[in-house]
Amino acid sequence: MEALGSCLTNKYSEGLPGARYYGGNENIDKVEILCQDRALAAYRLDKSKWGVNVQPYSGSPANMAVYTALLNPHDRIMGLDLPSGGHLTHGYYTANGKKISATSIFFESLPYKLDPATGYIDFAKLEEKAMDFRPKMIICGGSAYPRDWEYAKFREIADKCGAMLMMDMAHISGLVAAEEQAQPFEYCDIVTTTTHKSLRGPRAGMIFFRRGPRPSKKGEPEGMTYDYESRINMAVFPALQGGPHNHQIGALAVALKHASGPEFKRYQQQVKANARALASALMSKGYKLVTDGTDNHLVLWDLRPCGLTGSKMETICDMLHITLNKNAVFGDASALTPGGCRIGAPAMTSRGLKENDFEKIADFLHKAVELALEVQASHGKMLKDWKLGLEGNPAVDTLRAEVEAFAESFPMPGFTRESVDI
Ligand SMILES: *Cc1c(COP(=O)(O)O)cnc(C)c1O
Repeated sequence: MEALGSCLTNKYSEGLPGARYYGGNENIDKVEILCQDRALAAYRLDKSKWGVNVQPYSGSPANMAVYTALLNPHDRIMGLDLPSGGHLTHGYYTANGKKISATSIFFESLPYKLDPATGYIDFAKLEEKAMDFRPKMIICGGSAYPRDWEYAKFREIADKCGAMLMMDMAHISGLVAAEEQAQPFEYCDIVTTTTHKSLRGPRAGMIFFRRGPRPSKKGEPEGMTYDYESRINMAVFPALQGGPHNHQIGALAVALKHASGPEFKRYQQQVKANARALASALMSKGYKLVTDGTDNHLVLWDLRPCGLTGSKMETICDMLHITLNKNAVFGDASALTPGGCRIGAPAMTSRGLKENDFEKIADFLHKAVELALEVQASHGKMLKDWKLGLEGNPAVDTLRAEVEAFAESFPMPGFTRESVDI
């Protein structure tokens, strides 16, 4: 946060280290090169095989830069559907054909989905669709998927239909750096990420791309090389962005150094243990989680069996000072009334919580559900009436006080009582 708020924000430096459109960048060049080196080191990548661009302003611009670099307008892509846990930038459009994301406006996107019976990605259907649709790129990665990614299966399908394979590891890039999830680099051509989620850095984005020799396709001569590097660098700047945000790049260099150390590995192991503890505690209370558990940092809670919507859960939790977010679960009738909620472990793990503390969180969540259902019974299901039943309700005040007392017993990084007193 110190690097993010530093004088690095004041310098313009369009271009790349050693090839800038502005003078006076000797130190900025050092910062960006250090950031690139640390990015490759954090993921144990060999410089002769992988390169990285650390200039994307955030995750969505990073993805748009990849598409701009490697696709032509209206080329075909396939990403995980938004209601299945994918991200908007993977090509979402609504059931009645409204193109919501720039990715679906400029490219032809056909989503793949989860298997409704298991909540896992349906690879058989993905393969069948891909063989018919012949996408130029398949995108894996998501924002609300509680399981790891089976890269070998994606690669096999991509090879069968002649597609490039991109992994957007935004949510799990911290876990991947700590080797607490499968490694995408062996199988994917491109890997993008945000840097402010489980990687715990500044809000920014990165694009990793293969470089050097590549296997020749049928009919090609030997000795072909990947051409991603210049295309991706040109797409980031000048095609889409202007001057890089050097304060972000400086802060990212700091975060990547943290991400390469043993303490970060312990942190990510604790994140996973905490997510698992939360999942088991909720399931032991009889609740339904998508895929009945988690392999990573989050749980996706299907609230439909309790007769509660995700919006109501988010609303009552806001009143209790518990922050989570409503989330679609596969098979929801409408994206406007999501049937579940998504809860992540990284932030509270950074405050020092362990498994037994996450069990306590599960107790709070259980009480929130019971209260929400009580008020639904006494005041009706209509959101307006239901909210009236919560306002000024002494049970809400009591539970909120319990939550606050619990939360205050843990430190808040970057926000100490001392800093508030100043
Ligand atoms: C968060 C996220 C993004 C977008 O990141 P922004 O920084 O919000 O633009 C892209 N892809 C995935 C999978 C994400 O979870």
